[in-house]
Parts: sequence; structure tokens; C-alpha cells
Amino acid sequence: MVNIPLSKPEISEEDITAVNQVLRSGQLAFGSVQRRFEEQFAQFCDVDHALAVSSGTAALHLAVELSGIKEGDEVIVSPFSFIASSNVVLYQNAKPVFVDIEEETFGIDPALIPAAISEKTKAILPTHVFGHPCKIEEISSLCKQNSLSLIEDNCESLGSSIVSNNGVKKAGQFGDYVAYGFYPNKLMTTGEGGMLVLKDAAQLERATALRNQGRGTMKGLHLIHEILGYNYRLSDIQSALGLSQLSRLTDTIVKRDRIVSKYNELFNDVSGVQIPKSLDSYNPAWFVYCIRVSEKRRDPLIKFLADAGIQTRPYFYPPIHLQPFYRQRFGTQPENFPVAEKVSKEIIALPFFNQLTEDQIEQVVAAVREGLKRL
Ligand SMILES: *Cc1c(COP(=O)(O)O)cnc(C)c1O
Repeated sequence: MVNIPLSKPEISEEDITAVNQVLRSGQLAFGSVQRRFEEQFAQFCDVDHALAVSSGTAALHLAVELSGIKEGDEVIVSPFSFIASSNVVLYQNAKPVFVDIEEETFGIDPALIPAAISEKTKAILPTHVFGHPCKIEEISSLCKQNSLSLIEDNCESLGSSIVSNNGVKKAGQFGDYVAYGFYPNKLMTTGEGGMLVLKDAAQLERATALRNQGRGTMKGLHLIHEILGYNYRLSDIQSALGLSQLSRLTDTIVKRDRIVSKYNELFNDVSGVQIPKSLDSYNPAWFVYCIRVSEKRRDPLIKFLADAGIQTRPYFYPPIHLQPFYRQRFGTQPENFPVAEKVSKEIIALPFFNQLTEDQIEQVVAAVREGLKRL
């Protein structure tokens, strides 16, 4: 029996050396490594300002707070995302308004957004899922037309881009605020960690204060808390790992692209399996490798693969509006968002990480083929 995990971080000797250097330096937090990590990350993303924070959720929360969202406001979010992208709206006592997704990118369907915009709408918070950008150009236009803030949840699609008449633009270059996360299953990791990207230089100071208990950064005074803030800081130990991982992110994306091609090639003649789509004008940076099978076969196939030593997972199941907490609080029901619900019942994420070998890919595909034959 094989033993192939769903995901595995890649930690190199260089990563370990970089972390050890910080440990030996005695400067474990608020040092120059964090600042370098922020600068280089901003450079990689082609943006002006990046602020290292303790998680992707912290980045999303700061984005929502910085866009001035408060009690009574509404924010348009995707039901087909990680729960954090909707929870952060609740942290501000505002209301997440779900809009269904489209099947090409699994992102919010721009055509359905106008009907969801009300007097109370303040922002749209779309998620780029699985490594493939959502239809962000159309969403960005809608934000401009309606004077709404745009907050991109780009925790899963760091490094992906979109080709249009205006040239190539990265996911994460559209939003007023963009959130990134560095949990160990992401394209790059800091253990736990995240990054907030923002457009407005004037807000950088406020964001920096919010990250550190509301401490002012101006007067060089310590322990002067000017606003209500949080502890959303990232250490230099984590930043060192991030900086080292970032330095080979371009290679990582290429590596993962090769794995996707190999999977796709082998699944070519397996009937009953839909491989991940990549639209013509998009360059994904794959975060997970998800196939679709019929709803009826999905869970039995997951079980069959688990028995064969292959770890897989449904993704995102159930969608956010059907999570117990949301059903209880908002009374949401199945069939409110048919596309998200359908997709979430058909998707299986297969083992996908940098070190996955061709042999292992072949074993996974053979097991899926065998499983589908028996079910
Ligand atoms: C990973 C992820 C986050 C952030 O997660 P943290 O665990 O808080 O770092 C947010 N949104 C999406 C879509 C994610 O995949």
C-alpha cells in the first residue's frame, strides 16, 4: 500500500539556514528580516505596499476594517471559499451577502453581482480559488461603477495572472486591499502567516498600527495606543522562512505546473473525470489539483482512495452558507446558490505538492481509474 499525503510543505536547507540565522541573531521580531520580506513580497506582486501579518485571516480582517466597513454595512462574498473570507465581515458586525459562482473559474459570477448590490453595500470581496484567477476585471469594473471597495482574497492564487487587452496583470493587482496566507499547504509558507497588500500609501500607517495593538508609529513613543488594534504581528523567524521560500516561488509555480500537466495527460483517457480548467487568457499558479466526478461517486471514491493510502479531500464542502454556524445565524438553505452547491459536491482535491513524483502521480491516477471502475 502506498502512502501519499494530500499536501506537504517543501522546506529546503536554505530555508533552515535562514531561520537559524535569525535565531542566532537574537532579533526574533520587528527586525530587518520582516521589512525585507515585505519589500520583496511587494516586488514579486508588482504592488507598492505589503504588510506582514500573522495569518491570511488577519490580512482579510484588516482589509475589511481599513475599507471602513462597520455595523449595518454589506459586503458581497463568495460562498465557495475558505470560511475566513466571510467571517471577517462578521468580525466588523457587517453582513456578508453571498453571490453564486460561475463554473469556469469557480469565482463569484460577475453577472449576478448587480442584483446583490444594495444601498448598504460597501465592498466586494471575491476569492481566487485553487490557483486560478476569478473574473476580476469585470468585478473591478463593477466596483468602480458603484464606488465600492475591492478586497481580493488571493490566499490561494499568489503568482497567477490574467492576459487582456491591457497586457498581463497579476491577480492581486486589482484590489484596494489584497490578502495572502502562508499556512503550510499554500504555495509558500511561513508556518502560520499572511500579508496584506494595499494601494493607498496614506493607509499604511493606520494598517501598521492596527497590526500592533493600535500603537502609533509617529512619535517614536512606545506603548502609546491611539486606536483599537490587534496582535496580528509576524515574527522575524517566520519572515526568514517566508523570504527564503519567496526566493524560489517562480520555480515552485513552474514545478507545480508540470505536475498539473502530468496529471491532466494521464487523466485524458479516464472517463467520468473532469480535469481542472484553465481559461485561455489566464495563467494559473496552481494551489490544489481538483478533479470533478459525479456527486454520487465522490464520497465513495474518496473512501476508496483513502483505503489505498491516498489522501484526498472534498473542497470547499459544504460551501460557507451551508456551514452549521451560517445556517443557524442566517437561516440559509440548500439551493440558495446552486452552482457553488453542485461544484462542492463533485470536487476532490488530489495529492499535490512540490515533491510529488511522476511515480506517485501515476499511482494516484491508476487508483482513481480503478476506483471509478468498481463504484
Ligand atoms: C488559506 C486561506 C485563507 C487564510 O487562511 P489562514 O489560515 O488565516 O492563513 C483565506 N482565504 C482562503 C481562500 C484561503 O485558502
